[in-house]
This record gives sequence, structure tokens and C-alpha cells, in this order.
Amino acid sequence: MSEENCIFCKIIKREIPAELVYEDDICIAFNDIQPQAPMHVLIIPREHLRSLDEASEKHTAMLGHLLLTGAEIARRQDFAENGYRTVINTNSDGGQTVFHLHVHLLGGRLFIFPPG
Ligand code: AMP
Ligand code: ZN
Repeated sequence: MSEENCIFCKIIKREIPAELVYEDDICIAFNDIQPQAPMHVLIIPREHLRSLDEASEKHTAMLGHLLLTGAEIARRQDFAENGYRTVINTNSDGGQTVFHLHVHLLGGRLFIFPPG
């Protein structure tokens, strides 16, 4: 999917609504529309990348920033002490359905490992 008809790019451009929880120059974070846990936030870069598979060395700082942003949101929403799960699904076997790189941040219940 190209940038023009990417649903997450549309959220960044405020063309479709989302419940934003955080934003800065590098990323935005919003509540997942079909939450799988009491906290289910998606953290996405402003730059359109289809998946983690498209990332390269030049994205190192951005990728780290997505994870640290998730950690900060978990602390702010009081899920850090009990724990939480961060997930990046990549391509079809990874379960990716929206092709704009995103980190899932899930908390508020127990997560088993390995996931199904
Ligand atoms: P993935 O399967 O890893 O690609 O995750 C895509 C996620 O995006 C799913 O958890 C969806 O529920 C979520 N999602 C899809 N459309 C929207 C939207 N308009 N606003 C918020 N979350 C969305
Ligand atoms: Zn996009």
C-alpha cells in the first residue's frame, strides 16, 4: 500500500480520526481501534515505512525512539510496574495487516509466551 492510501498516514495527516495519546516530531501514538488488552496503543513513525523489513541503518534512532516512547506511555498510564508487551508484526506470517510500521503496546492483562 502506498503512502497516499495508507490508513496510518491518514491518521498522521488528521484525515481520519484517532484517539491520540502522544505525539512528537518523530512519532505519534494512538489507541488501537480493536483493543486486545485494557491498554492497546499503536506507536508509529511519521515516516511511512511498510514494515520493519523496510527499515535500515538510517532508521536506528527512530526505531529506538518508538520503543522508548512505548516505555514512557506505559509508565504514564501506570502499566509499567505490572508489565506490558511490545510487539511488531512483520509481513503476512508475522500477522501484519496495516502496512505502515507500528509498535503495539499492550498492558493490563497477562500475556503468554510464545504467542499463538
Ligand atoms: P497489525 O495486524 O500488526 O498490522 O496491526 C494493525 C492494527 O491496527 C490492528 O490492531 C488494528 O486493530 C489497528 N487499526 C486498524 N485501523 C485502525 C484505525 N483506524 N485506528 C486505530 N487502529 C487501527
Ligand atoms: Zn503510512
